Amino acid sequence: MRIETYLRLAYKAYTQGIEVIGPSFIAKELEISRPSAYEGLIKLASMEYGEYIPGEGFKLNKKGIERGKEITKKHRLIECLLGNLGFDAESACTEATKLEPFISKELSKRLEEVFRDRVMCPCGEEIELGIDGR
Ligand SMILES: [Zn+2]
Repeated sequence: MRIETYLRLAYKAYTQGIEVIGPSFIAKELEISRPSAYEGLIKLASMEYGEYIPGEGFKLNKKGIERGKEITKKHRLIECLLGNLGFDAESACTEATKLEPFISKELSKRLEEVFRDRVMCPCGEEIELGIDGR
């Protein structure tokens, strides 16, 4: 699993009011093992997206929150694209998770222009503003 996906899930938890996430949260969301989830969170901390509090879990900092928001928006724009290609909401999310680490800024920008009038992604989540520091 790529670092972007861990960050997006940490941000998802944050928007749901969960400020500190343990490896179990990530393990469950991504259907991966707890040790792998733990490694991902440690990596996020080492990249200065937050801190890992031993025995508690990972807590995003300001940089992590901003980056998480960006990735989330990118994820939802990719879902819109996949929705147009005929993917149902669940498959669009699965595929968007695979694609999100590889989408360039140029492509993100283009998707943002094309889906300018979309408020919701196919799974009914709001496409948040925040990409490229806007
Ligand atoms: Zn979605």
